[in-house]
Amino acid sequence: MSTKADVPEKGKDFIRQIIEKDNETGKYGSRVHTRFPPEPNGYLHIGHAKSICLNFGVARDYDGKCNLRFDDTNPVKEDIEYVDSIREDVEWLGFKWDANPFASDNFEKLYFIAELFIKMGKAYVDHQSAEEIRENRGTLKEPGTNSPYRDRTVEENLSLFRAMKAGELEDGECILRGKIDMTAANFMLRDPALYRIKHADHHRTGDTWCIYPMYDFTHGLSDAIEGITHSICTLEFENNRPVYDWCVNTLMEGLKQPELFGENAAIYEELAALPGFNQRPWQYEFARLNITGTVLSKRKLIQLVQEDYVSGWDDPRMPTISGFRRRGFTPESIRDFCDRIGVAKADSTVEYALLEYCLRQDLNDRAARYMGVVDPVKLVIENYPEDQVDEFEIALHPEYESYGKRKVPFTKELWIERADFMEDPPKKFFRMGPDREVRLRGAYYVLCTGYDTDADGNVTEIRATYDPETKGGWLEGGRKVKGTMHWVSATKGIKAEVRNYSNLFSIDNPNAPEEGKTFVDYVDPDSLEVLSECYVEPALAKMQPGTNFQFERTGYFCSDSKDHKPGEKLVFNRTATLRDSWAKIQKQIGK
Ligand code: ATP
Ligand code: MG
Repeated sequence: MSTKADVPEKGKDFIRQIIEKDNETGKYGSRVHTRFPPEPNGYLHIGHAKSICLNFGVARDYDGKCNLRFDDTNPVKEDIEYVDSIREDVEWLGFKWDANPFASDNFEKLYFIAELFIKMGKAYVDHQSAEEIRENRGTLKEPGTNSPYRDRTVEENLSLFRAMKAGELEDGECILRGKIDMTAANFMLRDPALYRIKHADHHRTGDTWCIYPMYDFTHGLSDAIEGITHSICTLEFENNRPVYDWCVNTLMEGLKQPELFGENAAIYEELAALPGFNQRPWQYEFARLNITGTVLSKRKLIQLVQEDYVSGWDDPRMPTISGFRRRGFTPESIRDFCDRIGVAKADSTVEYALLEYCLRQDLNDRAARYMGVVDPVKLVIENYPEDQVDEFEIALHPEYESYGKRKVPFTKELWIERADFMEDPPKKFFRMGPDREVRLRGAYYVLCTGYDTDADGNVTEIRATYDPETKGGWLEGGRKVKGTMHWVSATKGIKAEVRNYSNLFSIDNPNAPEEGKTFVDYVDPDSLEVLSECYVEPALAKMQPGTNFQFERTGYFCSDSKDHKPGEKLVFNRTATLRDSWAKIQKQIGK
C-alpha cells in the first residue's frame, strides 16, 4: 500500500517566496496581480492546469487578482470556439478571473506605443526580406549585422509604419523592429520584430487591422497595461525576458516624455495613470509540466483532432482538461495533483499514475458504489423460485451512511463477471469454481453445482444453489466464505455500454519518436475498448450525464457527458481502475 509519505507534499514554491518578499518590502504596496495568458488556438491541456492553479492560486492565497487574458495577436489560428472552451475549463477547475481582457483590446494602445518607440529612436521599419533578416542575425558564435535600414530617420520610420497600418504594403514587405543590439549574446535582443503585416481578418477586430504586434512586444506591455505584478510563465520564455524588460522599460522611459505623444495626449494620460507604469511587472519562469505517456503541446493535440486519431478535443484519452472532465476526473483531483507536483525551476516528467492517485483519493470519498458486470456470463440459481424477487438494500458508500442505500433486485437468473469463474481454479482463486461457495455481494452465499460450455469450450452458463439462511450475505456464527462477487439480475438489470480507455500512446515518451517516425505513429488503436453488452443494476437507469461513481471491484466510472441518455441509453466511461499503480511505482524505485 502506498503511504502518505510516498506522495509529494504540498509546499511553498519559489514564486510564493518571491511574492512574500515583495509584500514585505512593499514593492507593489500589498498588490498581487497575476494573469493566465492562453492563446485561443486550441483547447487547454493538463499543462495549462498547472499554470492556472499557480496563477489563480497565488491570487487567492495573497488576496490578489488574476486575469484570464486571451493572447490573441495571431489572427489566423484563433477562434471563438477556443475562447469559449478556455473559459469553461478555467471555471470548471474552480477559478474565477477578476478580468477577462483580450490582447486585441489593446491594439490601439499598442500601436501608439510602437509609434512612441519610433519617436524615441528605439524602433525602425526594416525592408530586408525574411531570408536576409535570418542571415544577418548572426550565429551563436558570431554577432549579427546591422540592417541597411537601421538608420532611417524618425520621420521616415513613422511614415512607413503608418503606411503599413494603412494597408499600403504587402504581407512580408517589411516589419517594425526594436533597435536594440545586433551583437547581443542573447539572440532575442538582436533587434526583435515588434510588428508584422498580415492582411487577415481577426476573430474579434475583423478587418480593422492589417498589422499585428508580435508576442514579445505584446506580452510585457499587456502586463503593464493590466497592472500585472508577477508575470509567471514557463521556462522557454527565459530568453525572451530581456526583450520583455526592454519593452516595459522603454515605455516607462517614454512616458517621461509626454511631448512625444503629440496629438495623442489622451492615450498618454490613460497609460501614465495605469498602476503598471508606476510599478512595472516582472517576469518569472517555472518548469512546464510533462506527463509520461502523452504529449502536451497544442500543435500536436490539434493534429490528433484534425487527423481523426481521436473523436475530438474532449476524447477521454486526450490530456486536455475537457478530455479529463469527460473521462470523469474531478477538478479537485486535478488541483490536488497540481499542488503536489509543485512549482520548480527545472523541467521534469511526472508519472501519469500520480494523477490517477489523486483521482482515487478524491473519488474514494465522493463516488457512490454500484454493481455492473462488464463481461457477463449467466449464473442460474437452481433452487431459487422462478418468479421470486428479493430486493436488497445495499449501502451506496462503505464508509459514509449519509449516502444512503439503493435497492438491488435479486432473481433466479443473474449476470456475473466471466473472469470470476474458473473451471479448474487454483487454490488461491477466491472466486467461483465447481463445488466452491462464494458470497454474492449483499445477497446470498451460492454454491457452484455445474456449468455448460459451447463447442469452442467457452463457458455459456453456470449453475449454483443458494442458501436462504445467508440472506443479506451473512451467516451469523456459521461457515465463512472467502470470496465476494458482484452480480446483476439478468431480468431486472439494464444493458449498458462501457468504454474502457488505456493510454493513447503505446510508448512512455511519444515526444521522442524513433528516427523516421512521428508521435502519431505511436497512437494505439486499441486504447479505446467499447463493451456494448454490459449489465448494470436498475438504480443507474436515471443517472444524469457526468456523474462519478464506482463499479465495485472494477473501477471508477463516469456517465458520458454526450452519449449517455438517462432512461434510454447508458454509456459509462472508465475513469480509472481500482489498482493503485502509483504505489507500485514507488515500490519499484525503492521508496
Ligand atoms: P502549447 O505548448 O500547448 O502549444 P502554449 O505555451 O503555446 O502551449 P499558451 O496558450 O500560449 O500555450 O499558454 C498559456 C500559458 O500556459 C502560458 O503561460 C504557458 O507558459 C502555460 N503553459 C503551457 N503549457 C504548459 C505546461 N505544459 N506546463 C505548464 N504551463 C504551461
Ligand atoms: Mg505558446
